[in-house]
Amino acid sequence: MRHIIIIGNGISGITAARHIRKRSNDTISVISAETDHFFSRTALMYMYMGHMKYEHTKPYEDWFWEKTA
Ligand SMILES: Cc1cc2nc3c(=O)[nH]c(=O)nc-3n(C[C@H](O)[C@H](O)[C@H](O)COP(=O)(O)OP(=O)(O)OC[C@H]3O[C@@H](n4cnc5c(N)ncnc54)[C@H](O)[C@@H]3O)c2cc1C
Repeated sequence: MRHIIIIGNGISGITAARHIRKRSNDTISVISAETDHFFSRTALMYMYMGHMKYEHTKPYEDWFWEKTA
């Protein structure tokens, strides 16, 4: 089994991780200096406008990532 390291947890890194998980049982580590979990960067403007909170920008619950690691 391989250990695949992905730098960055934006949509590119997370999409890569999810596709790798669908196709293999390789261990996947996603590294980001920004946040622990994926959030939608495209929703940032709604946060800045006060229409959304940070929690609303995360399409998956935090436990999801450990479960699929
Ligand atoms: C306010 C806003 C609104 C937007 N609206 C739209 C929209 O409506 N439609 C649209 O198509 N696009 C929109 N975009 C653009 C879209 O968000 C980006 O195209 C998309 O996020 C790019 O995804 P990415 O995963 O390639 O990069 P990013 O989302 O930039 O993710 C890269 C990640 O890698 C991390 N990283 C980079 N280098 C390192 C390192 N050396 N070590 C550790 N971590 C690292 C960064 O911290 C970041 O978390 C918007 C962007 C913003 C900011």
